[in-house]
Amino acid sequence: MKVIEKIADMKRLRQQLAEPVGFVPTMGYLHEGHLALVRQARAENPSVVVSIFVNPTQFGPQEDFSHYPHDPERDLALLEKEEVDIVFMPSAAEMYPPQFNSWVEVGKLTERLEGASRPGHFRGVATVVARLFNIVQPTRAYFGQKDAQQAIVIKKMVADLNMNLEIVTVPTVREPDGLAMSSRNTYLSPEERQAAAVLYQALSLAQKLWSEGERDAQRLRQEMIALIQKEPLASIDYVSIANAETLDELDTVNPPALVSLAVKIGKTRLIDNVVLE
Ligand code: AMP
Repeated sequence: MKVIEKIADMKRLRQQLAEPVGFVPTMGYLHEGHLALVRQARAENPSVVVSIFVNPTQFGPQEDFSHYPHDPERDLALLEKEEVDIVFMPSAAEMYPPQFNSWVEVGKLTERLEGASRPGHFRGVATVVARLFNIVQPTRAYFGQKDAQQAIVIKKMVADLNMNLEIVTVPTVREPDGLAMSSRNTYLSPEERQAAAVLYQALSLAQKLWSEGERDAQRLRQEMIALIQKEPLASIDYVSIANAETLDELDTVNPPALVSLAVKIGKTRLIDNVVLE
């Protein structure tokens, strides 16, 4: 496994990789969710590249960029075990030299949900992902369903800008109590960790009501909100039931519908989703 820090070196080594090339972009502090992406990439491609880069431009000024968890040694040991070919780990200075001044904006889809709560977030994501695609030139790139809107936005960018790769979405990996794995779960105290199960409980409730025949989206939102409000450590940012392609909020639930939510547990903001099909 080669660990590369410079863009020029990554571009050069790329030319020597066997095709097709699978690529997994991450911000590090890896867990089983990331590793599911890596394993799928490994199974489907003779070459696998993983990037680890905590992208400053996708964090808002009040967000957790400066204390985002990191443990590169542990990450590299995990990726070595998965037989990754190249880990691309650029510095912030390498990715954002002082003269850097170009941005990728994906329209409408980025105005809602995470985009509405985190202004500028998807501009940062789309810009860094587009650049990573240009540097790594993957045949396929793997994204988690955990960040459903991110995967949708990236697919839209790839389609609109005629980028020459396939985007693969991988199912969400969960803890035994249903909590979606996330590097940010590490911020939770033991009490908050228990409370965090309420996100998946709310999603499961929507799934249950849907399977019992409920089609009124507002009723589903209200039931989810009522359940979350019973948890004293939880405060809701949004609860959404939207068309899974356009992200337009629904009155009547027509499949596929994306049920997604952002909830703060103490100071930690967590997101999760399920699709009603
Ligand atoms: P991050 O390091 O948080 O930027 O995540 C890197 C990639 O891993 C993204 O495509 C995420 O959607 C994906 N990912 C993160 N957590 C999970 C999870 N629990 N299950 C599946 N994919 C995940």
